Amino acid sequence: MQQTEVPVAERGREAASTASPAGVTSKPEALKIEEISPLAAASSPEAEAFRKEIIRVGRKLWERQYVDGCGGNISVRLGSRYVLCTPTMLSKGDLEPADICLSDMDGNILAGDRLRTSELLLHLEIYKASPQAQAVVHCHPPYATAFAVTGATPPNGLIIEYELFIGPAAVAPYETTGTKAFAETVRPFVKDHNTILLANHGIVCWADTVTHAEWLVEIFETCCKTYLLAQQIGKPLSFIPENKMREILALKRRLGFPDARLHDAAVPAEGTSAELERLMEQVTARLEDRN
Ligand SMILES: [Zn+2]
Repeated sequence: MQQTEVPVAERGREAASTASPAGVTSKPEALKIEEISPLAAASSPEAEAFRKEIIRVGRKLWERQYVDGCGGNISVRLGSRYVLCTPTMLSKGDLEPADICLSDMDGNILAGDRLRTSELLLHLEIYKASPQAQAVVHCHPPYATAFAVTGATPPNGLIIEYELFIGPAAVAPYETTGTKAFAETVRPFVKDHNTILLANHGIVCWADTVTHAEWLVEIFETCCKTYLLAQQIGKPLSFIPENKMREILALKRRLGFPDARLHDAAVPAEGTSAELERLMEQVTARLEDRN
């Protein structure tokens, strides 16, 4: 198994201008997506593959009961000028390729017959705040949303997956959905948080792919559920020791995930143990779908 030199999220950033879904190889001689017309971009092989990924993830969100009615929305960057997103007023379990809209970075629809999701402004705010963000998933999973209606987040130091992939989630203040003011509520948190609770509403996650953004939703929802169940057992919670937490954060730094705790000088810049190296290999392989 090859050793990873560049963090996964860093590679996502490098690929930002020519982002391609899995299985689509960009031809070096071809024009970049941002250099072709909106209609040509919308019918490109990259867009076609992204639409399939959005539909697959939409179905997962609905099957896992992370969306209700026509709630939730998904988007992905298509080059540096365009975004593909889900339409408004349609269940995420019923999406078809023709339903996916092509928008510019200001939310103007350039291709597609349906109206875009009213929450696209939220997604665009995230893309503008972080070049690392390539895809955004917003939904209303019940356990995460239970925290969102209290303004609280689950405590840190309890579940390794939560620490490694997400870390402390942020809570954005309440605003009316679909408005510019609502979109702007996440701006202060995007750089250090890939998972943000939206007060009295739900959750939004960003990642290097649509698939990975949905993984973050799953991890956060499971963490919220597990924490609530653990509290019912009647035993004290057992926290990960501080020195082991520093190892997790060192690994997180190498993987390129955001976390405000990485600004702390106490977190080592490099891994310190063979165990950490092995963990790095496992996580990288999982992110790259190698196992
Ligand atoms: Zn919503």
